[in-house]
Amino acid sequence: MSGAAERPRPASGPSAGSGPAWRDRVTDALEMVSEAICFLDAEDRLTWLNSAAERLLERPAGTLVGRAVWAEFPELGRSHAAVTANREARRTGTVQHLEMFAPTLDRWFEVRVLPVEDDVAVFFRDVHERRALDDERAAESSLLRAVLNALPARTAILDADGTILTTNTAWQERRPPAGQVSGDRGDDYVALCRAAGRAGHRGAQAMADGLEALLAGRTRSFSLDHAWPGARQSGGETWWHMQAFPVDDGPRVVVTHTDITDRVSAEQRQAWQARHDHLTALPNRAGLHEAISAALAEEPGGAVTVLFMDVDGFKQVNDTLGHEAGDLLLRELASRLAHRTRPTDVVGRLGGDEFVVVARDCPAAGGLHLAERFRAVFDEPFELAGSRLPVTVSIGIASSGPGTTRPEDLLRDADTAMYAAKSRGPDRHLLFTPALRTELEERWQVASGLREAVLLEQFTLHWQPVVDLATDAVVGCEALLRWEHPERGRVPPAEFVPVAEEKGLIEAITRWLLRTAVEQGAAWERAGLPLAVGVNVSALHLASGTLVDDVLGALGAGRLAPRRLVVELTETSLTSDPEQAAAQLGELRRHGVRVAIDDFGTGYSSLATVAALPVDTLKVDRSLVSGLPEDRTVPQAVLGAVAALGTALGMDVLAEGVETPAQLAAARRVGCTHAQGFHLSRPLTAAELTPLLLAGRSRTGVPCLPAPPG
Ligand code: C2E
Ligand code: CA
Ligand code: CA
Repeated sequence: MSGAAERPRPASGPSAGSGPAWRDRVTDALEMVSEAICFLDAEDRLTWLNSAAERLLERPAGTLVGRAVWAEFPELGRSHAAVTANREARRTGTVQHLEMFAPTLDRWFEVRVLPVEDDVAVFFRDVHERRALDDERAAESSLLRAVLNALPARTAILDADGTILTTNTAWQERRPPAGQVSGDRGDDYVALCRAAGRAGHRGAQAMADGLEALLAGRTRSFSLDHAWPGARQSGGETWWHMQAFPVDDGPRVVVTHTDITDRVSAEQRQAWQARHDHLTALPNRAGLHEAISAALAEEPGGAVTVLFMDVDGFKQVNDTLGHEAGDLLLRELASRLAHRTRPTDVVGRLGGDEFVVVARDCPAAGGLHLAERFRAVFDEPFELAGSRLPVTVSIGIASSGPGTTRPEDLLRDADTAMYAAKSRGPDRHLLFTPALRTELEERWQVASGLREAVLLEQFTLHWQPVVDLATDAVVGCEALLRWEHPERGRVPPAEFVPVAEEKGLIEAITRWLLRTAVEQGAAWERAGLPLAVGVNVSALHLASGTLVDDVLGALGAGRLAPRRLVVELTETSLTSDPEQAAAQLGELRRHGVRVAIDDFGTGYSSLATVAALPVDTLKVDRSLVSGLPEDRTVPQAVLGAVAALGTALGMDVLAEGVETPAQLAAARRVGCTHAQGFHLSRPLTAAELTPLLLAGRSRTGVPCLPAPPG
């Protein structure tokens, strides 16, 4: 205001004319202040204004002094507040205070009207900035309130000391059930959390700690998912996500609690489903992996043993009784298994008909014991679709060693052992050894090579002569399959026939075999050797239903008389479904083909079953023949009984595996009609055998065949 000091005094004003001297002093002083000031006389004429007022009103004093304020500023006259303030100041003699907006100046003013004798002094200042800011603030705070209330989460704003300053509608309306931290405006929220924590709620304790750290500025935000027990109408627990962060860098803090119960229960449901099998509600592969991992990690943990079970012939149950019956069987099985385990053991289902039991603190010997116990689960047949079904399982057992850490290793070993057990026949269990893995790997190699073998015709036939004991003449030859493996050399049938059966290759191989054998039979016939050729046929071929067509097809193509072909089927393959077997064998025999029961005496079939089958020859297994030294009467009696029975039924009875002259003599003595074995001839190729057979024929029927070496 330095410039104001030199300013000439206004021509009229409070100091003009004969006014008292104090006025001059006052106006001098008033000139100096930053607030705008003007004086109005009794007629509301402007008598003086300071330079601040000139600036604010944007008019020089010269153009205003002496003029009526209402005329100079018409909008003032329209302002009810302004007119009233002026009147009331003069009437009451008290200071009037107002804030008004001046449209022409586009500004807010704060005005005080002060009566001074007959005049009034008007103090005014520009409060536009402040007003604008206030409006903005007001708008802002109502916006904030609206936003707060729109938040579905329970939300509170805490003061620096943790006191609740304000809460939103959700906070007030969605009161948590008793026992949970709530609180109202004015409450110390941190103290409430602390108290709930002391009452035993760990979530509340963590909340108090987190809020304290945040309020003290030690952290920038805090969040926590926690559960409150026994809430909601359902009585189950509720889950909350708590979040807290400072408002505008603090010290105040916003706290929100979001109800995440639905999400958490959906997640928990999903997590459960991801680890369980929907059919049996048992742990699935993922669940079992977890269980094995946990058992392996136990400290101090004993060995963990895994039993891998696979239902024998489950596919047949599904195929013949339907999938519903199959599902029923699996559920029943699951419940039986679950009742046989200790509480600490875990029963799970890997899928299909594969079940796994994880036994903690159980060494291999215990695993074998468990396997026995589980096999007893199947003693009682299963009631399915109105019938009682006997069911067995194959079980593989694997136990952890000191180095076992991965659940998949244990599962794989148990699986390997199960596979090996199954390949030895149904209803068995085996403990894993590394040798079993080698066996499995070899089987794999065999399996992959076999497909090629079929295509590349890597098979050959060896022939073993059959001798008629009445004439000592060779009357037939059994075809024995050999696989000439390009790297492994000659592979015996015991190594690859089971694999070929398992991989569904045996039918194709047998068709090749039938054709080749029939061709050889026809070739011998042309050479003057009227031999019967024997062909081994797998039980699976019988089950597949194509056997009759395949046999007749080969005979037709090779032009061999049907009576020169002998189809050999094992005792067990015929007795598993005797009706089906009888139908096909009967059909073959009607066409003149001959049928032999192979390996007789190794199965458990009753003689009555065998007697009912349409069969030409009983081939008595080597195991009954090898115990035949003359000084032992029991084996002779057994073989004699079989021979007597066969002959009574009109069958030929052939002793297999005759290795010594004594065995040959015994077989002859007890009444066997035919014999086969290394003593008579080893299996030979057709090229080796044909000249010998031709030479033998010239020597009037006495077998002239190579004896075993030594
Ligand atoms: P199998 O039908 O009982 O065949 C007889 C087996 O006993 C043959 O073994 C033969 O070499 C052997 N053998 C013959 N005489 C004696 C003897 O005096 N002492 C001893 N210790 N063994 C003797 P191979 O050729 O290894 O065949 C084994 C089994 O493989 C056969 O038993 C048969 O079940 C199966 N097999 C062989 N060829 C075929 C085939 O073409 N198809 C099918 N499905 N299975 C076949
Ligand atoms: Ca045979
Ligand atoms: Ca045999």
